[in-house]
Amino acid sequence: MEFDTIAAISTPIGTGGIGIIRISGQSAFEIAGKIIKSKKFGSVYDIPVRYAALVEVYDNEEFIDQAILIKFRSPHSYTGEDVVEIQAHGGMVVLRRILEAIIRNGARHAMPGEFTKRAFLNGRLDLAQAEAIVDIINSRTELLQKAAAKQLKGAVSKKIDEISEILLNLISSIEASIDFSEHEVSELSDEEIENSIDAALEKIDGLLKTYETGKAIKSGIYTVIVGRPNVGKSSLLNRLLKEERSIVTDIPGTTRDVIEEVLDIEGIPVVLVDTAGVRQTEDVVEKIGVQRTLKSVERADLVIFMVEACKITPEDMEIFENIKHKKFIVLVNKTDRGINITQDDIKRAFGKEGIFISLAKDENLEAVEKAIKETILGQGIEAFDEVIITSLRHKELLSKAREYLESAKQNIKSFPLDILSIDIKNALDSIYQITGRKVTEDMVERIFSMFCIGK
Ligand code: GDP
Ligand code: ZN
Repeated sequence: MEFDTIAAISTPIGTGGIGIIRISGQSAFEIAGKIIKSKKFGSVYDIPVRYAALVEVYDNEEFIDQAILIKFRSPHSYTGEDVVEIQAHGGMVVLRRILEAIIRNGARHAMPGEFTKRAFLNGRLDLAQAEAIVDIINSRTELLQKAAAKQLKGAVSKKIDEISEILLNLISSIEASIDFSEHEVSELSDEEIENSIDAALEKIDGLLKTYETGKAIKSGIYTVIVGRPNVGKSSLLNRLLKEERSIVTDIPGTTRDVIEEVLDIEGIPVVLVDTAGVRQTEDVVEKIGVQRTLKSVERADLVIFMVEACKITPEDMEIFENIKHKKFIVLVNKTDRGINITQDDIKRAFGKEGIFISLAKDENLEAVEKAIKETILGQGIEAFDEVIITSLRHKELLSKAREYLESAKQNIKSFPLDILSIDIKNALDSIYQITGRKVTEDMVERIFSMFCIGK
């Protein structure tokens, strides 16, 4: 495919030792030639490919910087097109001037993600790999970066290919069988069809199973701390973050708004939300806080429900009514002030054991982190050698393929082969969309708009 020539500053905005401008497209060499001079090679055309050449950059005959220029010739480049990278000094003004000079000489400003989009359209990457690049760029934790690196190397695509292989084989067997039966040759048995569908389903389920972990790794665990005023919600957030962030006071109802902080628990981003105490209130500001709390609870992947060790109050029970439908853990705080309630009381009231802690004395806080992790991920993520699905898009397509296959499976006995194959083709189509072998224009736009400029 041939496109116009695009250019962008590919390094972050700001100052740095170097800054890189990338030009891609059929006029990349020609345009670079108009703004650079090379003592050693003369013309850009005479610089060998993949050679780091020292050049001088000019803007309308005015020398503006010294730089390293590297040429990549199509198809051996990131985008698959002719590419020039100019590594200039990393100042905002100088990089902008170089870019503007390139634009004036015939390139166009690249759109967000456009370099990677071209790499995809030119067959350098599949869609799952392109998405992995977004994750690698954006990952805030090592686990997401690791999962994304695997995806970039093609681990997800390989699993997807295995599934499409099974479905493709099945479709061609069905088609052959439809053909053959006219000539009264062998027929595909119901069992053979069912076995193939099951084999595909097993692989799909294996991938789907990893999504809960993948989602936790990518989006974080949205964890909301609730409890009546003064039980120690803000203190808990502060202790977990090991820094004083929200205001801790003795006056009930000081945490009026929702405060979010991200905690890294063994590589999983835990988004901790400190809320206003859930209680009946006439104060307008606090009322808004209470409503936000209830909203946060609805969004929560996990609720940390706090009570005090002296007693369980009716207010506690009222709050519990609002959170009991969610995944939750019970923290029994202020054990340093005396413990008047037992594990049995907790179990009777809330249906599970509590973790007894003292934030004042820093007691038993490891148990809190452990409980957060285990409640979400079960016994942890030791299965990390496996491919993990972190993308909602992939999960939805896998689920869709699953539905088509289940439907086909149910109809094996009752429907003729040609009808059956429609469901299987639809399943294959959903699977193909993960790697982008068959994608709609619209989807390509959506995926690449998540990139930033220069990628
Ligand atoms: P919130 O309203 O639920 O956010 O409660 P805060 O975190 O603001 O705490 C209210 C008060 O209880 C503060 O004075 C804290 O210092 C105190 N507090 C919190 N945890 C403990 C604890 O474990 N023991 C004791 N003795 N006091 C605590
Ligand atoms: Zn508070």
